[in-house]
Formats: sequence, C-alpha cells, structure tokens
Amino acid sequence: MSSGKIPRITNIWSKVVENEDGLLFSRVVIESTGAFQTKVKRQGGKILLEGSGVMANMPLGPVEINDGLIRRVSLDQAGHDRITVAIETEHPAAFDFGVTGELPVRTSVTLERSFITRLFQGKKIVIDPGHGGEDLGGRGPVNLVEKNVVMLIALNLKKLFEQAGAEVILTRQEDQAVSPTERMKAAKDQNACIFVSIHTNIDQNNKVSGAAVLYSSSSRDSAGLAGHVKEELLKKLKLVDRGIRKKKEYGILGSIPAIEVEVVTITNWVEEGLLRSPTVHKKAAEGIFNGVKNYLAGSVRQQEVLV
Ligand SMILES: [Zn+2]
Repeated sequence: MSSGKIPRITNIWSKVVENEDGLLFSRVVIESTGAFQTKVKRQGGKILLEGSGVMANMPLGPVEINDGLIRRVSLDQAGHDRITVAIETEHPAAFDFGVTGELPVRTSVTLERSFITRLFQGKKIVIDPGHGGEDLGGRGPVNLVEKNVVMLIALNLKKLFEQAGAEVILTRQEDQAVSPTERMKAAKDQNACIFVSIHTNIDQNNKVSGAAVLYSSSSRDSAGLAGHVKEELLKKLKLVDRGIRKKKEYGILGSIPAIEVEVVTITNWVEEGLLRSPTVHKKAAEGIFNGVKNYLAGSVRQQEVLV
C-alpha cells in the first residue's frame, strides 16, 4: 500500500444515543478519509481498535468522556502507519462495531448501557430543588436567584434518572414554598432509596468559590454517596473542590442516604455566569447522576461480597 492510501484520522467524538425503543447507548465515532481495516478486541476494561492510519491534526492524549459508561478514549499512533483507539469503560458493556459512509468514513463502536439501567431499575429517588416561592435562596451579583437555577438542574437530573429506569419524586413542581419537613417527609413516605437536595453555596464576603456536597449525619451511607457525587460533579464542572461535610438537619430521614449538593457558589460572579448556561445545568445534572450511579454500583459490589 502506498503511503498516499493510508487513511487519515480526522475526528473522534462520542455521544449517548437513544434507539426507537427509548434504550440508551454510548457511541464512539472515528472519522477518517478511508476505512482503516480495523481489528477490534476487548482487553480488560477496554475495547481496543487497531488499524492502519495516521492522525491528521488530532489532539494528542486521551479525550475525557465521562458519560457514565465511557470514561475516556485514547487515540495513539502505534507505528508510522498504525493507529490504536482504546475505549476505557467504567462497567462491563456489550458492544457493536460498524463502518459507514465515505469522506468521512465513520467507524463506530456502540456500547449498551444495561449495566446502568439495572442499577436504577425499580429505585425511587427524591430530588429536592432548594427554596421556592418567597424564599429565593442565594442571589448572584447580577441577580440570578438560586431557587430558579436549582429547579433547572433538578429537571435535567430527573430526566437522566428516569431514562435510566428510576422513579423520581420532586419535592416541588413549581415555584412554591415547601417546608424542610415536608420535603423530607416526601422521601420517608415514599420509601425512597436516595434523597438529593440541590442548592448553591452563598458567600457574602465573596471569598470562596466552587462546589461542595453536604451529607446526612444520620445515615451511614450518606458520606459515601456525597464523595461519589462530589468527584463526578467536579469532573464535569472543573470548579474549586470545597469538599464534603456533615449536615445534621436530615435527622427525620433516618437511614435514607441524603445529600445536599452545592453545585456552584452563586455569589461568585464567574460561577453565577456559568449558571446562565443550559449546558452547565445539563453538565451539573450529569455529574450528580454519575456520582449516584457509582454509589449504587459500589453498594451492589458490597452486597455481593456479603453474600
Ligand atoms: Zn440554598
């Protein structure tokens, strides 16, 4: 083969796609100027594609995906005309492989997300958008109010949990006042398995910024849940890490794992600006979703060990 015929890899991207039955899949697509005669194999927690090709103006190093199933994709020039693509997954997943189109040729790997669906199937989750009605919550320097943005994030999160098969209960449907007791009672009465309250941090002195997660001191599992959610939220929003800490007021929830996510610091003008973007609402919800998912995956592992 002359070097002129070696396909050039021009682009790589990934997204979560839905089929006509509403099932979700993670898809990685590699675009190239020709088919690169790929071999596909599974190796540990990775799916490896190997073929002939050269990278054309591609960024070096791994691309972080963090869609809940695919952690990252790494594209490497293995020899002068050899290409490897490594798809690193967080959970086991069956996959399909296909090649379509020309100029660009699209080589795609489609992974099923049933591992995630199994974690959420039959679970009841309470999402609590903070504040509401006359209680505005925090206010940013350009007058964005907390009660409105936490609702937008909550609605994004609700959609993700429902797509994964969970049942979601919102503690308020609209801009209305709800007492803290009523909010928690919703979780208790419905026998929810997780309570997620969404807030922003407020710092009137404008010294701190970033994200934090508070957790119920009355549930043994809350700290673990908070840790997972904080870690995944920061992967999505790249903010200052304000850590996790205990919150006492969740007493009546008893053993239900409960957290309060302070997604950003609304009094910081840069972070208030972020909150105006629908993409940020979506990313925040994805981070919280991924954290809850990892918590559920961890407790499944724990049960397996106990059995
Ligand atoms: Zn708040």
